[in-house]
Amino acid sequence: MFENAKFVIDSREAFDGCVFVALKGEKTDGHLYVRQALEKGASLAVVERDVDVPKEKLYLVKDTRYFLQQMAAQKLAMYDPQIVGITGSNGKTTTKEMIHHCLGKELAFRNPGNLNTEIGLPLSILNDYHGQPYAILEMAMNKPGDISTLCRIARPHVSVLLNVGTAHRGVAGGDEQILRGKLEIVENMREDGIAIVHSDPRILEKIKEKKFLAFGFYSGDYKLVSYKYEEFSTIAHYETPEGKKKVRFSAILNLGQLVNVAAVLAVFDVLGLDVDLSKFETFIPVDGRFKVIKVDDVYAVDDTYNASLESFRIAVETLKKLGKRAYAVVGSIKEQGIYSEQTHRQLGRILEQLDGVLVYNIDHEIDAMECSKIILKSDEPKAIVEQLRNLLEPKDAVLFKASRAVGMEKVLELFLGGKKA
Ligand code: ADP
Repeated sequence: MFENAKFVIDSREAFDGCVFVALKGEKTDGHLYVRQALEKGASLAVVERDVDVPKEKLYLVKDTRYFLQQMAAQKLAMYDPQIVGITGSNGKTTTKEMIHHCLGKELAFRNPGNLNTEIGLPLSILNDYHGQPYAILEMAMNKPGDISTLCRIARPHVSVLLNVGTAHRGVAGGDEQILRGKLEIVENMREDGIAIVHSDPRILEKIKEKKFLAFGFYSGDYKLVSYKYEEFSTIAHYETPEGKKKVRFSAILNLGQLVNVAAVLAVFDVLGLDVDLSKFETFIPVDGRFKVIKVDDVYAVDDTYNASLESFRIAVETLKKLGKRAYAVVGSIKEQGIYSEQTHRQLGRILEQLDGVLVYNIDHEIDAMECSKIILKSDEPKAIVEQLRNLLEPKDAVLFKASRAVGMEKVLELFLGGKKA
């Protein structure tokens, strides 16, 4: 009865003929919006309890969340694609997009970046997967157990663990919990599955019994051995069990992203896909994830989508390689909980390597940061941009980076003022 149905969980997004699934969230309960969804055209509402609407419009189940997950799992089982599950603290979206770009949308399905949770993943499979032979799935973790749930929906043939860092450490409950939670992607792959993991000793030690390939910078089975930037392109060299490989991008990719390309090469080999490496040349970095824009002969780096200590470290390292001088406009790293002060003190030490730091301070979490390179602290995008304009010279690089909630894109947009080259 649900064949070809489109599922909606927000009644405001309901449309003619869709199926509304009432989920109980932390803030509200979808059962309160069943009537509204039906009024907007939903043909049916999947519910856990009775609601005061015509009975023929209700489909009663024990657990609506589980229903959604089971439906998605069944759909995958029907088409039986090769499933690549990707998790890690940094780089999931870009890595997934890169694989998808190289394979093309006829061959590969991928879930959009924010549809990577126990609700988002099944929704995207149900609404957008149409039987491609490869499913490249980003799997996000907030707490241990999340990845196991996602793997029950889509059990990977290939499990990619990009890295284990400190992102969301406040929510996850600490660094040990993050490691444990992320390893679930390896523990829950198929019997005959293969893992592709960052060659981090903490990870390797825990997966000795599993079938795996490791990747890294100068380490592992698939390794990045050198990289350089030429004007606006990147050339990277890899050593793999299948021989040496050269990959060129018509964009600037940072060191972390280039290391993740080693994982991408491993995925292709494991799947037995002979991918033309020139496909990487046309890959366009995802907005907000270390996307370098050249404006007035200055490298402006849009890294406004999120932030963690590891991605800051990588960004700063790359920035120094890229520009004559390196500056950054920074804001808080969120979801650090009791670790917030420690995280921002560590951030200050990372930023010492720069020529100057401007702090976009709207939430004061970053007040704990000490750094001798701070030039200005302000909650006014205009003040920051004016200072930048006085400061920057041709060939300088400037990074814009903070956690999503900070809204750093406001500062970047003002700085760019409609100019992009
Ligand atoms: P995710 O989906 O995991 O948040 P994104 O592709 O959106 O990953 O990238 C988030 C940030 O992580 C970007 O700033 C990116 O440059 C950075 N990044 C990517 N790979 C790595 C890595 N291996 N180590 C550190 N930072 C990385």
